[in-house]
Amino acid sequence: MRATVSARVAVIGGDGIGPEVIAVAADVLTAAAHRHGLDIALDWWELSADRYLRDGIAITDEERDCLIRDYDAALLGALGDPRVPDHAHIRDILLGLRFHADLYVNFRPCKLLIPALSPLRDPDPATDIVFFRENTEGLYTGLGGRFKAGTTEEVATQESLNTYHGVERIVRAAFEHAAATGRGRVTLVDKANALVHEGALWRRVFAEVGAGFPDIAQDAMYVDAMAMDLVRRPERYEVVVTSNLFGDILSDLGAQVTGGLGLAPSGNINPGTWALFEPVHGSAPDIAGQGIANPLAAVGCVALALAHLEMNQAAADVDECIVASIREGVATPDLGGSATTSVVGDWMAARLRD
Ligand code: ATP
Repeated sequence: MRATVSARVAVIGGDGIGPEVIAVAADVLTAAAHRHGLDIALDWWELSADRYLRDGIAITDEERDCLIRDYDAALLGALGDPRVPDHAHIRDILLGLRFHADLYVNFRPCKLLIPALSPLRDPDPATDIVFFRENTEGLYTGLGGRFKAGTTEEVATQESLNTYHGVERIVRAAFEHAAATGRGRVTLVDKANALVHEGALWRRVFAEVGAGFPDIAQDAMYVDAMAMDLVRRPERYEVVVTSNLFGDILSDLGAQVTGGLGLAPSGNINPGTWALFEPVHGSAPDIAGQGIANPLAAVGCVALALAHLEMNQAAADVDECIVASIREGVATPDLGGSATTSVVGDWMAARLRD
């Protein structure tokens, strides 16, 4: 049978609302595959705080290798549980996959689907930004340390690691995406006036790579000015490429400006190979088990996964279905509706099967 499978996707519910939203995502993916005659095999994986607390291990090396080797992509609901305050299982699962599969692109689209969803006054309906956040370097490598920890003389350092290789590949991915999707501008965000060493590297590489894309407008913004501009005129930006820390912060801002956490999907991608898609939101333990979690960010991940698998028409249909559900008012309470998570999912799956 395996020979007929055109793609294999691992489905990981995770913690809190993760299993609730990912169940909807799996239904929508199955319905989209059915509509387009695609043979996509879904396998469920138990990687969660429950399992970590039960077995004392979050993910084995064999499981991690199998996920990367035997699947084309993974869909993850969310990880995070108050019973694991040091987030050990998140580190093992997410960072393990990120480093072993070298998922150097954190891809975060922020598109204003419906102007009324924006907290801005008079938002431009054309607002549509994709963030390319570097995902393996910067301030997130754990370099540095604490000296005299726990005393009043404590010293803490955290170093930002930036390599030519790491910067070049994320900048190139941003430009290639812009060229492939017809986006006319790529903006580099940094703090080159203060973080002069890494700033010089990023600016040099941005100019070098950008020279190969003469038809695409190119500019650079300091991160503080960018934070203002994302609120003032977000419609100006099309593709934004930036470091791990700045991308983390700015893409949350972009998500809020275009409708909030309930709608924001993301991908951890090694272009051309493996990818893991997850909503930007966390496990939201405060609403877990109540059936009110908004599944649209997880469904947005399905669209990103289908695009990654080059099943572009199916991806477009899923995106269209998200907009339709909001327009028709089939929405969870965070969007002002009264539908449950599964009612939204059933509506979308039925629409895709029609
Ligand atoms: P974690 O520590 O796992 O990130 P968190 O609760 O601190 O979890 P989020 O999960 O991002 O952070 O949630 C922040 C707030 O947004 C919560 O109050 C939550 O109820 C709400 N929220 C997050 N995701 C959703 C969703 N899909 N639908 C509705 N509300 C959501």
